[in-house]
Amino acid sequence: MIVDILDLGMQPIANAFIDSKDVDKESFYRLIATYDTDMYSFSQKNILNPDDMFNSNYAYFSSNSKPMVEHFRKTAELLQKQNPKSVLEIGSNDGCFIKNFPIDTSVCIEPSSNLANLTDILGYKTYDEFFALHIVDKLLKTHGKFDLIYSANCICHIPSIDGVLESVSQLLSDDGMFVFEDPSLLSMIQKNSYDQIYDEHPYIFSILFINKITSKYNLEIKKIDTLSVHGGSNRIYVGLKNGKNIDKSVQYNIDLEKENGLDKLETFVNFSNNVYQSKLDLLLLLESIFEEGKKVLSYGATSKSTTIFNYCGIDSDLIECVSDTSDTKIGKLTPGSHIPIYNRSDINLNEYDYIFLGAWNFKDYIINNEKEWIENGGKLITHVPTVHII
Ligand code: SAH
Repeated sequence: MIVDILDLGMQPIANAFIDSKDVDKESFYRLIATYDTDMYSFSQKNILNPDDMFNSNYAYFSSNSKPMVEHFRKTAELLQKQNPKSVLEIGSNDGCFIKNFPIDTSVCIEPSSNLANLTDILGYKTYDEFFALHIVDKLLKTHGKFDLIYSANCICHIPSIDGVLESVSQLLSDDGMFVFEDPSLLSMIQKNSYDQIYDEHPYIFSILFINKITSKYNLEIKKIDTLSVHGGSNRIYVGLKNGKNIDKSVQYNIDLEKENGLDKLETFVNFSNNVYQSKLDLLLLLESIFEEGKKVLSYGATSKSTTIFNYCGIDSDLIECVSDTSDTKIGKLTPGSHIPIYNRSDINLNEYDYIFLGAWNFKDYIINNEKEWIENGGKLITHVPTVHII
């Protein structure tokens, strides 16, 4: 049974930061999250056409995030220990991960052509298209099977997980590994970080779901690493099914998710109530700050904050501006909520009393970057796991 769990209202395309002249051209859709009591999957009801999100205007460049550059360097180092002879990356973005691997044995798939162009220029064979079953034959004929198929923050973007797994089962070499990292459903529920839910994430994966669905495609989970990136993610290692080399982290995570009720509808009903409470608390806090005549800016023009701003009805009265460092966002407005985005270096932080952590998952990094302002009395607001001032 598939149940509607959470209605996050009308939302724009989360990463479509707009020019002020284009505000009337924005389109909205209803963001509803559902839970499948048989498969334990958590997904969106109204999935957008991927072409509307992943095209030549895609604004997220992994390499703009220093913590992610470091994360991918370390991940590559870890995966190189297996000595993969060939690597395929799905959703290679600007090459942040793949550039740690040799050009002649690595292949990229990236449908956002502005990004595909970047790995192409670096010399990597790049397919400027969506990873899907229909390109498997072409990949096999040109490159053969792969020892490592890697994908970060991308598989949960693909509407057909069945298509992904069927393709992977055909593309993996006998001892090959499909390694993918995506936000963890358990983390989201524990942190009440409902802002993980936005158009680009048709799914937020539980291990329980991946465990069930891989078995349909002659695949099985071999190992799981628990990661802190993106507010809590799982790195899931999947291989061809043979019952061999299954790490104890697999059963550990299955048990942990069951202990935390990810197999029970009731858990998601509670989550939905907590999200509504979070909205009320955030609005009350921002309104009281506004009435005191104090000012708030949000740190990081993120897709996550698009969900929060539009669900809570936050506009530039409550949050005056958003700071960011990426050229594709500076000078634009946040989707739906139309809050101006300024270059961090053009903002005098001393004019602000509070920072809202739009990029709450980079909290430590932000605290470190803005130490001086904090020492002078600046305060941070977060909604994770409950709305509070840090
Ligand atoms: N892997 C990077 C980028 C994540 S953003 C990181 O973790 O930082 C998601 C990326 O996946 C975008 O670059 C997007 O264009 C790409 N993408 C979306 N759907 C895809 C699909 N079906 N196949 C391959 N890439 C896809």
